[in-house]
Amino acid sequence: MFPEFTLRYARLPERFFERFDPVSVPAPRLVAFNRPLAEALGFDLDAFDEARAAEWFSGNALPEGAEPVAQAYAGHQFGHFNPRLGDGRAVLLGEVVDRDGRLRDIQLKGAGMTPFSRGADGRSPLGPVLREYLVSEAMHRLGVPTTRALAAVTTGERVFRRVPEPGGVLTRVAASHLRVGTFQYFAARDDVEAVRTLADLAIERHYPELQGLEEGERYLALLEAVAGRQAALVAKWMGLGFIHGVMNTDNCAVSGETIDYGPCAFMEAYSPTTVFSSIDEQGRYAYRNQPWLAQWNLARFAETLLPLLDADQERAIERATAVIEAFVPCHEAERLALFRAKLGLVQEEEGDRELAETLLEAMEAGRADFTLAFRRLSEAVEEDAPALLERFESDGALRAWLPRWRERLAREAAGAGEIAARMNAVNPLYIPRNHQVERMIAAAAEQDDFGPFEALREVLADPFTEQPGREAYAEPAPATEKVFRTFCGT
Ligand code: AMP
Ligand code: MG
Repeated sequence: MFPEFTLRYARLPERFFERFDPVSVPAPRLVAFNRPLAEALGFDLDAFDEARAAEWFSGNALPEGAEPVAQAYAGHQFGHFNPRLGDGRAVLLGEVVDRDGRLRDIQLKGAGMTPFSRGADGRSPLGPVLREYLVSEAMHRLGVPTTRALAAVTTGERVFRRVPEPGGVLTRVAASHLRVGTFQYFAARDDVEAVRTLADLAIERHYPELQGLEEGERYLALLEAVAGRQAALVAKWMGLGFIHGVMNTDNCAVSGETIDYGPCAFMEAYSPTTVFSSIDEQGRYAYRNQPWLAQWNLARFAETLLPLLDADQERAIERATAVIEAFVPCHEAERLALFRAKLGLVQEEEGDRELAETLLEAMEAGRADFTLAFRRLSEAVEEDAPALLERFESDGALRAWLPRWRERLAREAAGAGEIAARMNAVNPLYIPRNHQVERMIAAAAEQDDFGPFEALREVLADPFTEQPGREAYAEPAPATEKVFRTFCGT
C-alpha cells in the first residue's frame, strides 16, 4: 500500500542529517487520513488497512524502504542566530515520486527525541497536529503553495505542556524540507561544498529549468528564483489576511511553500499591525511586516550563497544585493496583481494601487472583517449592498469609495455578473477561523470528539463556494470567543 521510496536526502553525505528511528508510542490511532493526497502520492488504497496505517503514521512501524533521518539545520529565530536547530522531533522517512512525477518528502512530526532535540521531548500535542493538518490543507484549497497533511494519529500518550495533553503525530508531505536554515547550518561551518550540494539539490527539485545554466549564473539564478517564489507566496498570505507568526529562517522553505504552521492565524477585523503569536512580543512578524521579513530571510539565504556567486567577494555581494533589492518591487507587483483581482479588475491602470489601499483604509476605519468585506464586495458591483455595508461598524469611508470603484469597473471589458463571478473565485467565503480551530482542538483533545474537525475539514475543502447550511463557518468570532493570542503549544 505504501508507495516505493526514492531516497534522495538520506543519500547525501552523513553530515547532512542524523539517522534516527522514530520512537514507538503506546497506542496509535489514525484520526485523519487524506485520501486524495494519498492517491496523488501513489498509495494503493484498495489495500488500505487502518491498523497498519496507524503503525506507519505514528512511527511504530517503518514502511518498506524508508531510511529515517533527522535533518540538520540552523536558523535565525526572532533575529537571533542558532547554529544548530535541526529536526528535534521530526523524521524524514524518505521521498516518493507522486503521480505527476514530482519528488515528495514524507515526514513524521512528533516522532520522538532526536539528536537535535536539545532537551525537549520530541513530541507534539494533538492540538497543533490538527491545526497544522487543517490549516495547511485549507491553504492548499485557497491556492497557496504549502506543505500538505497526509495523516494524523493520536499516540495514546500524554505530553506535558502547560497541562497534560494527548500526543499526536502529523505526517507531512512537502516539495522538500530544504530551508534557508539548512543552508545556514553549513555556511556557519564554512562548508562551501555542502552549500553547493544543497543548492544543486534545490535546483534539481524545485528549479530544474536552471540546471542548464553555467555555474557562474546558476546560483544567482537560484537566489532570484527563490526570491520570486517568496515574493509570490507572501503576496498570497497578504491577500488572505494570513499571519504566519514565526517567519524564522528555519521556517522558510526554498521551495516557496508555506511551512511550519505554529501560532499562525487569520486576521478578522482588518488592521495591518495585527499580531497573534504570544511569543512575538515585539510584533516582528505582524501582518504588515511579512514582506520585509521575507526579504530579511532572503538576505540571510543570499549570504550563504556568496562563495558560489563570484570568486570576487565584493562582486558577489553586489550581485546578491541587487537581487535582494529587487525583492521589494517584485513582491509589490505580485501583491498589486492579487489585490486587483480581489477588486474584480483585469486591466491595469495607474491608480489601482491607491484604489486598493483606500479600500483597506476604509476597512480599518470600519473594523470590517477582511475576508467577508472582500467577499461581499462582489454584491456591490452595481449598487450598495446591505451584505457589504453591515460588515463595517462605520461605513462613511466605504460609501465614499464605492462610486470610485464602480467608475473604475466601468472601464473593464466585462459585465457586472462576470466581474462578480471572477471576484468570488479569488475572495474566499470560508477560511480557518481562529475560534473554529480552537473549538475543534478543544473537542478533539478534551473530549476525543473529532466531529468538529471533520466538519471544518469539509467546509474548508471548498472555500470559494457558498455552502447552504454552513453560514456560521463564514462568520467571524462572536465577542466572547475572539482570539487575540495564539500559542505555539508545540
Ligand atoms: P519550530 O518552532 O517548530 O519551528 O521549531 C524550532 C526548533 O525547535 C526546531 O529545531 C524543532 O525541531 C525544535 N522543537 C520544537 N518543538 C520540539 C519538541 N517538542 N521537541 C524537540 N524539539 C522541538
Ligand atoms: Mg520550524
